[in-house]
Amino acid sequence: MPPATRILIVEDEPLVSMDLRRVLQGLGYADLRLATNATTALALVEAEAPDLVLMDIMLAGVRDGIETASIIQANFDIPVVYLTGNTDNAVLERAKESSPFGYILKPVDERPLYTTIEMALYKHKAERTLRNSERQFRQLFDEMLNGFALHEIILDESGQPCDYLFLQVNPAFEKMTGKSRQELVGKRVKECLPNLEPFWVDIFGEVAQTQKSVRFENYSGDLKKFFHVAAYSPRKGQVAAVFEDVTQQKKTEETLQHRTFHDALTTLPNRALCLDRILQALERAKRRTNYLYAVLFLDIDRFKMVNDSLGHLAGDKLLQMVSVELKRHARSVDTVARMGGDEFAILLEEIKAPAEAIHVSRRILEGFKAPLMIDGQRIFLTFSIGIVLGPADYDRSEELLQNATIAMNYAKSLGGSRFKVFKWPMLKKIRRAWDVDSHLHQAVQKKEFEIHLQPIFDLRTSKLAGFESLVRWRSSSNFLVPPGEFIPIAEQTGLILQIGNWVLHESCQTMARWQKTLVGGAPMTMAVNLSAKQFSQPDFIKRMARLLTETGVDPWRLKLEITETMVMDNPESVVTKLRGLRELGMTVSIDDFGTGYSSLSYLQRFPINTLKVDRGFVMDMDKYENLVIVKTIVNLAHNLGLDVVAEGIETRDQLETLTSLNCEYGQGFLFSKPMTVEAAEELVRAHFTSVAPDA
Ligand code: C2E
Ligand code: MG
Ligand code: MG
Repeated sequence: MPPATRILIVEDEPLVSMDLRRVLQGLGYADLRLATNATTALALVEAEAPDLVLMDIMLAGVRDGIETASIIQANFDIPVVYLTGNTDNAVLERAKESSPFGYILKPVDERPLYTTIEMALYKHKAERTLRNSERQFRQLFDEMLNGFALHEIILDESGQPCDYLFLQVNPAFEKMTGKSRQELVGKRVKECLPNLEPFWVDIFGEVAQTQKSVRFENYSGDLKKFFHVAAYSPRKGQVAAVFEDVTQQKKTEETLQHRTFHDALTTLPNRALCLDRILQALERAKRRTNYLYAVLFLDIDRFKMVNDSLGHLAGDKLLQMVSVELKRHARSVDTVARMGGDEFAILLEEIKAPAEAIHVSRRILEGFKAPLMIDGQRIFLTFSIGIVLGPADYDRSEELLQNATIAMNYAKSLGGSRFKVFKWPMLKKIRRAWDVDSHLHQAVQKKEFEIHLQPIFDLRTSKLAGFESLVRWRSSSNFLVPPGEFIPIAEQTGLILQIGNWVLHESCQTMARWQKTLVGGAPMTMAVNLSAKQFSQPDFIKRMARLLTETGVDPWRLKLEITETMVMDNPESVVTKLRGLRELGMTVSIDDFGTGYSSLSYLQRFPINTLKVDRGFVMDMDKYENLVIVKTIVNLAHNLGLDVVAEGIETRDQLETLTSLNCEYGQGFLFSKPMTVEAAEELVRAHFTSVAPDA
């Protein structure tokens, strides 16, 4: 027995209450209070909150026991048990209204009193627990962030769910839908949320059929919100659903998505998205015969220079301005994408004729004729544009884009600021270059090169003055490939270093052999062409020194031919290198002189020995201006203390003109084409035995 059970006795008959008190004490209830009227009873209830009230129904005063009990029931959470001598039905009915926990007839017997009190206490406690947990659930239901709604399923004639009646909703659901409980409960989805009805039917249709819990993600058009819905069927004919508002999550996902497919700097679609859009266009073109598209691949001309001179921040700003300008020329169905760096692409869709792509390209080139203003500076940009016109037979968008790049590079190679439409022969040309490149690697390994030597004569004495060493590639099909076809490619790939080294060694060894056996101390030089890559090697001078010791050639016999552009690109470091060569005792010629742009002041400072007049001028010397040029070069050389070699002499007239101009040396088909080393050796031998038997 709970020892601390406090009981309030409300009884106006002193004898009865005394007796009651005695019985209760006998039962072990020690904590007892007594009130003789309603007023004291209520005061005590309020002040002491007893565990139980034993209430006499017939009380003297303004309120009887039932009224008092009703007040307690309404205001306090305390169980009341009636004690009465009255068994009148009317009284019993009234007593019921106050929801009492027991009803005992006087005079009271010990046992019924005890059981009634204990039952009342237990029942009250159980009710309170239930109420508490209900309150907790209610609170959860009211306060949870997820929307909850219970529905009755409404079926159509064929027994399919066609609508839902709201039975219950929570505040979160009210907030999500923007409708109050009153507007929802008892109404059909069709009536109160007409826009969302298809969504409900979709989601719950499945639940109702499978009786399983499912998760849906859907877009509720009108509210611009996304929900995850977990729905289940608590009983047949009903659907309960918990709606989680994932709009924010979805937005975050979308931003992430945007970031993966867009360029951060310009916010344009990036390469990945552009490739995807092109692929879609390719597929559309396969399905629809009248569907025309075009891809423009754009590259800013000399952007690196602009970027380096402006600083990268301004460069970024410039790219942003470019993207805005490019978008101006595209329609909303088109895709303007940044492919990386200064490369952009535009996918033109649904064009009426291929010419439209040409128009757009023209407009872009025109549009950029107006300068862009960056930090108060006027920047003029030009573009090289490659165009691929669809429909064309592509399976992969990368392939199409590659061809657009090829066309762009072609436009660039013609000086930029223009567009070129891709044509398949362009690819053939490039393939051939790739072909050469891949074979060239093997050629270097297999040593498929040889040098041919072209004699150079002293025009004053007609004596053999030396040779120019010219490389040839004897390909596996025994075909001699001229240097013009592989040197430019070898320069691009860097293979020129290995090839050039080999040529140098071969030429020096040949000359070293002759100097020992045939030539002796007589003047005879070996000219070797150098590429820019070879010349710009940091350890170039060291390499040349090693070459001299390894081959044993007299340094002054080795004449390196470099071009004007090689010299003018980086005049400062070139001077140092040229001095190094001079210290080694080697000599230097400027090859193809007159075709580049030499600055006279530099020419004066360069420690060089010879100018080689380009073949082009010699060839056309019957034109007056060419004759003047050759004359000027010869005079210039002599004023600078240099001698002159004329290349490409093919006729007697040319030879005579050059001799009259005091040009020292000559080289050309008139004397001899480049010949094999063996043939050259014969020539040297013959020359030294016939010309100078006593040398
Ligand atoms: P280059 O140094 O100006 O060589 C002269 C070119 O003119 C040679 O062509 C030669 O065969 C040609 N030639 C000589 N006389 C005449 C003539 O009377 N008429 C005509 N029409 N042509 C004549 P090749 O051998 O085809 O060489 C072309 C270029 O390739 C050379 O021009 C040179 O710049 C480069 N080259 C050749 N060998 C090497 C090398 O070993 N290394 C490097 N880096 N470049 C080389
Ligand atoms: Mg040369
Ligand atoms: Mg030349």
